[in-house]
Amino acid sequence: PDAKIGDIKGGMSVTLPLNNYKNIAEKRAHYSRTIYLFFWLFGLCSLGIAMYYLVKLLHKHHLLIEETDELKFLNQIDPLTRAFNRRTFENWLTTKLMLFKVHHINSCMIMIDIDFFKKINDTHGHLIGDKVLIEIAQIINNHVREEDCFARIGGKEFALLLFNTKIRRAYVIAERIRRMIADSKIKIHDGTQEIVSITISVGISTFTTYDTSIENIIARADEAMYLAKKEGRNKVKIEQ
Ligand code: GH3
Ligand code: MG
Repeated sequence: PDAKIGDIKGGMSVTLPLNNYKNIAEKRAHYSRTIYLFFWLFGLCSLGIAMYYLVKLLHKHHLLIEETDELKFLNQIDPLTRAFNRRTFENWLTTKLMLFKVHHINSCMIMIDIDFFKKINDTHGHLIGDKVLIEIAQIINNHVREEDCFARIGGKEFALLLFNTKIRRAYVIAERIRRMIADSKIKIHDGTQEIVSITISVGISTFTTYDTSIENIIARADEAMYLAKKEGRNKVKIEQ
């Protein structure tokens, strides 16, 4: 009778199977940890594999660039003497002629031809002839600057482009080269240890404002070289 609404009289015991819930929660936590770990490992592995292939790709790219550079270089040189080839020489000449036209930087071309080379081939054989070409190229190559271009432009013809050089200076350089070759004794090892004396005939031309193409410059150096041959060989001649 003194009870009010909301009062509880007596008692009730309720047992909830919380252990089950605890187990489920633990299992879920374990499960998500495993998944988490799995994704981490998966991510790391993928990263590792990606890095591996990236490094491999970069290495391949690097090798390819090196090979391309090597090919480009081989394309520019004469395989026998390692001097530049004719195409490269003409490219240089074209560039330098442009520099002359625009900036008035003068350059000279030196044409070099070995005297009586046919006789060397006929007497000692083609292999010795090749050896002479290699040695002559070496002697000249040791005396040119980085900004000059030394090339083998024909069978036994070499050319030298002297950048930013006036004709008097070119003559001094050509004379020095002519003397160096004439004084050098090229040994030939065909069993006889013979020594051959070689001489060269040299022609020089320089750029003029009338030059519209490199052909004229080459032709004038060639003419001067033939004049040197006509006057007895082992000589340097400047274009007329
Ligand atoms: P000169 O120029 O003084 O008048 O006489 P030369 O005997 O040198 O002239 P010629 O132009 O008649 O001979 C050129 C020779 O060069 C003929 C050819 O067999 C030789 N020759 C050209 N290219 C090569 C080469 O790569 N190796 C060798 N060993 N000989 C070559
Ligand atoms: Mg000749």
